[in-house]
Parts: sequence; C-alpha cells; structure tokens
Amino acid sequence: MKLLYLGTAAAEGWPAPFCQCDNCKAARIKRGKNIRSRPQVLINDDLLMDYGPDTFCHSLQYDLNLDLVRTVLLTHSHCDHFHPLDLILRSAPFAYGQDSEAMRLFGNEKCRQMYEDLLIHAEAPEHLADCVSFSEVHAFSPFISGKYRILPLKAVHDPRENCLLYAVTDDCGKTILYGNDTGAFCPETWDAIRPLHFDLVSLDCTMGTGGAYIGHLNLEECFAIRKQMLQTGCADDATTFVVTHFSHGCCPLHDELSALAAAGGFVAAYDGFSVMV
Ligand SMILES: [Zn+2]
Ligand SMILES: [Zn+2]
Ligand SMILES: [Zn+2]
Repeated sequence: MKLLYLGTAAAEGWPAPFCQCDNCKAARIKRGKNIRSRPQVLINDDLLMDYGPDTFCHSLQYDLNLDLVRTVLLTHSHCDHFHPLDLILRSAPFAYGQDSEAMRLFGNEKCRQMYEDLLIHAEAPEHLADCVSFSEVHAFSPFISGKYRILPLKAVHDPRENCLLYAVTDDCGKTILYGNDTGAFCPETWDAIRPLHFDLVSLDCTMGTGGAYIGHLNLEECFAIRKQMLQTGCADDATTFVVTHFSHGCCPLHDELSALAAAGGFVAAYDGFSVMV
C-alpha cells in the first residue's frame, strides 16, 4: 500500500495566510518542508482521505489523475477536511471523459447533510449525483469499497458530530490506521483496534510540543499511543508510525519537529512525503 501525504497542516495551513507569528514568518523564509497545505492523503492512486479545500492544488502539485479515485473517506466536516462545493468538478461541464462509475464518498451524518445541500446548490450540475455518491457510515460498522475493507472508528474531536478515524485494509492484506483529527483514543476504539495489526499508523499531532488539548494530540500523547499499541500487539517493530496535521501555533519547523518525532519512533510527515508499506 502506497501513501502520499498531499497536505500535512492543521486547518489554517502553514504559513497561515494572515498570521505573523514567528513560525509562519520563518516558514515563509525557509520554505521547503515548512510549507504545509491542508490535510489529505492519497492511497494507491484510488483512495483519498478527506476532500479538503486544497484538493485542486494538490492535483496540480503532485500531477495527480483524480479520475482514478473511487473511494473518499471523510473523517469529519471541518473546513480543512471537507469542501463539498469542489465536488461539482467531478461532473460535466467541469469534467469530460468520465466513465460511468461514480466516485464514492463515505462519511458521517454532518457530511451527508452537506452533500445533500450540495445537490440542490445553484452551481451543482444536474447529474452530479450520478458522478459522486455518498454513503453515511458509523463507527465500528465495517464496509467494503472496491479492493478495500474499511472499519470506521470513533474519534475524540468535535462532540457536535460523529468524527471518524479509519482502519483500511487493501487486497494485499496491508492495514493502516488513519488517525486524525482526534485526541487520545476512547475505550471503544481501543477495543476495536486491539485485534488488528497495523503496518502503518498515522496520527494527529496538531499540538506538537504544546500542552494537552481535548480533540487533538501532541507528541507526548502520540508516543503514549505508540507504546500502548506495541504493548497490545496491534503494532510491532515493523509498523511505521507517522505524525501529521501540524499547527504553526504549537509545532516547531520541520527539521526540529522531525528530530523530536524520530526520538519517539515517529516519522514527521511533510507535503509530498511518500511511504510504502
Ligand atoms: Zn483538521
Ligand atoms: Zn502563524
Ligand atoms: Zn477537525
């Protein structure tokens, strides 16, 4: 299974467009891996994690053929993860040469409502529903999309909606955990992942070197999750651990962040980071 991290910032991006903090100023000067867009991961060319506002720019930046994407897993409705209006781009007259198979979105009740609002939006093409379908999914109710077996898990993030994490297994038997946005896992999620074995675990690290915050993780909390996963056996020394979704407010620039993460057994993702498991 191949993962390409298209965007690795928290909601505001890095540098945040209106921010004059030291971390944003430094990122504007140093650029490179310090420039981070909104979070999104492409798996094997045909599965997208989230559909945020930088999707179009990602298609340019990484020369992607998004027509190959058949499955989109939405973690929750926050603006950095779901930008439904751009889904109109999947349908004529914004896209031609499409085959007849719809791109399938999976997400929670709030995302479903946003999708239904999109279908009656003034700018929505008449046949949009033929090109983009939506299925509401629930934590701990597994489903199949194409060659993937998918288990939604309960995130600890925004109590106003059922935010989801995803365990994804491909047809080669490789399994990953996509874990943002979330705080420390709830007991039900630990119960669900305990019987699994992950080849890669990707965790929210919005808070970086900052203090604990309900709904997101910092580095120390990510290290604790790794330790617990190794103890329970759902991960082992061969498991790749990745942190992503970094905030300019709580995280150092990439080189320092990368060194801190490595000390705890993690790789710090950056925009364009690619990993095969
Ligand atoms: Zn987010
Ligand atoms: Zn800033
Ligand atoms: Zn969020």
